[in-house]
Amino acid sequence: MIPSVLPTYNRAPLTFVKGEGSWLIEADGTRYLDFGAGIAVNALGHAHPTLIKALTEQAGALWHTSNLYHIPQQQALADKLVDTTFADTVFFTNSGTEACELAVKMARKYFHEKGQPEKVEIIAFDGSFHGRSAAGIAAAGSEKMTKGFGPLLPGFTHLPFGDHDALTGAVSDTTAAILIEPIQGEGGIRPVPDQCLKGLRDLCDEYGILLILDEVQCGMGRTGKLFAHEWAGITPDIMMVAKGIGGGFPLGAVLATENAASGMTAGTHGSTYGGNPLGCAVGCAVLDQVADHAFLDQVNQTAGFLRQKLESLVASHPDVFENVRGSGLMLGLKCKVTNTDVVNAGYDQHILTVPAADNVVRLLPALNITSDDIGKAITRLDKAASSLKVTA
Ligand SMILES: *Cc1c(COP(=O)(O)O)cnc(C)c1O
Repeated sequence: MIPSVLPTYNRAPLTFVKGEGSWLIEADGTRYLDFGAGIAVNALGHAHPTLIKALTEQAGALWHTSNLYHIPQQQALADKLVDTTFADTVFFTNSGTEACELAVKMARKYFHEKGQPEKVEIIAFDGSFHGRSAAGIAAAGSEKMTKGFGPLLPGFTHLPFGDHDALTGAVSDTTAAILIEPIQGEGGIRPVPDQCLKGLRDLCDEYGILLILDEVQCGMGRTGKLFAHEWAGITPDIMMVAKGIGGGFPLGAVLATENAASGMTAGTHGSTYGGNPLGCAVGCAVLDQVADHAFLDQVNQTAGFLRQKLESLVASHPDVFENVRGSGLMLGLKCKVTNTDVVNAGYDQHILTVPAADNVVRLLPALNITSDDIGKAITRLDKAASSLKVTA
């Protein structure tokens, strides 16, 4: 008999009833160190007092009105994002995949309004992840996500990750945009080098096409800058954001330049929930913390400390781990044993990590994790790795 919850997930046998900072707690009081943070969502950890206050105050005042009326919290969050990023304008969604839908629509509409309706093609990359909607799976293009769901949304070209020659040859008269994650998350923490992001920006400028960055996982302070592309000194035309932006409340956004957004006039897009007062009240509280320079400095310090500890961990378990990769607090342990065995051994030591493609274990702690908790995590990962060696 089919379970009452559609069985699309292989869930770990863990159930949490409470969260505190970087910890998740089961009903019997067992505490797990959370190095997944809801897949880079709980940017400020669990039960952050400022976020609880923002949510409960808004909950007591007004939950939802629809986008038929002005929403002050939405306006405030859009203003803050415009002030702190490349963007001139913002549309709020409830998820990353909805942000992908709009990014694709926006790019196509831009060229349609410019009198170049043939420019519809989006160039995307192998190993990428852009969500599970029709546009999201067509954009990622992997067999795993698309099989059986055809016909796929047309207009996507897929290139091998990191193949520069393939890229220049792939831009044609019908190309509208290049869509890329500055650091592939689901794909196994694969960063795009700064030089390549610069190269992509130049290529887009040369051909007059749009650069769409998917910063759903790597954005919102994760790499130690508010957005990952800032390290490369470039700006996109359109950017998808979600995950960390709501700190655990479902919230996403598309940020864009005035030019790239010029086709999106009244009536061209909408969302019942997107940008509702609850989500945006929390989003404002998250952004106020994460966009702060002192906070980001702290993320970079923490990241340096974690990275150094992980390098030693890898060095002391050369038969389990190959290397550490990634940036800031978006790190991956490339494994020599099966990555899910490492994740499961972590559960036994009460530490939560997240598997990714390319046999990688992802480490995505809360951005405000303490060095004390990092120390505990390293001890637990060390025990987990040792347990694997014994049974191997
Ligand atoms: C998680 C993710 C998405 C999809 O976000 P949802 O909120 O799950 O729809 C899209 N792009 C990237 C890079 C992601 O990590």
